Amino acid sequence: MSKKAKKEKAISQKKFWLRLTRVCNNNCIFCLDKDSKDGKIIPLPEIFASLRQARKEGFSRVILSGGEATIHPEIVKIVSKAKKSGFERVQIISNGRMLAYDSLTADLKKAGLDEVTFSMHAHKEELFEKISRAKGSYMQAMRGLDNAMKNGFIVNIDIVITRLNYKYLREIMDFYVRLGVREFDLLHIMPFGEAWDNWDKLNFSLEESQKYLNKALELNKRKDIFIWTNRLPAQYLEGNEDLIQSPKKLKDEVSGMREMFDAYMTDGRMMRCRGEKCEFCVMRTFCEDLIYLKEKKKIASRENPKCLSFKNNKQKEFSLSADFDIFHFLDFFINHRYHVKSLRCEECRYGKSCSGAWIEDVRERGFDILKPIKNT
Ligand code: SF4
Ligand code: SF4
Repeated sequence: MSKKAKKEKAISQKKFWLRLTRVCNNNCIFCLDKDSKDGKIIPLPEIFASLRQARKEGFSRVILSGGEATIHPEIVKIVSKAKKSGFERVQIISNGRMLAYDSLTADLKKAGLDEVTFSMHAHKEELFEKISRAKGSYMQAMRGLDNAMKNGFIVNIDIVITRLNYKYLREIMDFYVRLGVREFDLLHIMPFGEAWDNWDKLNFSLEESQKYLNKALELNKRKDIFIWTNRLPAQYLEGNEDLIQSPKKLKDEVSGMREMFDAYMTDGRMMRCRGEKCEFCVMRTFCEDLIYLKEKKKIASRENPKCLSFKNNKQKEFSLSADFDIFHFLDFFINHRYHVKSLRCEECRYGKSCSGAWIEDVRERGFDILKPIKNT
């Protein structure tokens, strides 16, 4: 199966995200979870009930997360229950520190854990702990990674790209490739939680980071290496358009913010995060469209850009109705409103008024489909 086909298959699988704790043994400088970390461990009956419900709803994969999932005192029982409930794949997202304990890692293997996604944002101790803000976390995480490899888990690494590490991104990935890792997810920061408190230290521009990103993304040419991106603006991936995140992933974002969007649509309570953060948020155009829909009661497809040599015939309108469902609107947004521009649009006479091309056309054919129209 080709890399692309494998990726499409992975995207289409129904994954159930389950939070096990609201506490973490790291204190990452960009943690998005700051506001929900109240020190709580989710009780076992609640977790088991969620697992049962997810199976009934047809989820085939479960992703155990936190806070930090591995510090749940019953983590082994939870993995075992998930496996016995019939999930094809049980995955943990972890900073890896607890996996430094040989016995715990071996017990997780016996319980049926299949995959561990490590959050590792650097390759050298000093930078690693500048980001994790937890002394000793580097050595423990390294040992955890080693243990995970020895126990035969599927292992992959999440790297959050920030001003602190973008220059070293290729070095970081090369380091983990040498240790045997073959799959990476490169995440863009979101303007929430600790990340927003430290925004000046963390935020970076496309201009300053492009050559480092491109160098890191060259690794994608290797047949044995899988790279995903997460929330990385499409413009950052010019030349690597096949790495633009599937727009379907916006479903995860909307799921996490659903209450807030529903409150806005039913009671008119504006999203609490609306303001300065929006400029940097992956949901910006979606939220703008939602507000437009609420005010005007209907919204139409975006027009194709004037420079496009082909036309896709997908003109449609979405009207606000009593049975409004945020996910129906998200489908409309993805299919008819999710357009992206290239840096080259700055040279175009329509640069300010145009919204660019449909994201799927760009993913499929690349930004080269956009041909700036110059002033005559
Ligand atoms: S774009 Fe939407 S989700 Fe993002 S900060 Fe603004 S209101 Fe919140
Ligand atoms: S080059 Fe960019 S701004 Fe110009 S028409 Fe094409 S998409 Fe629009």
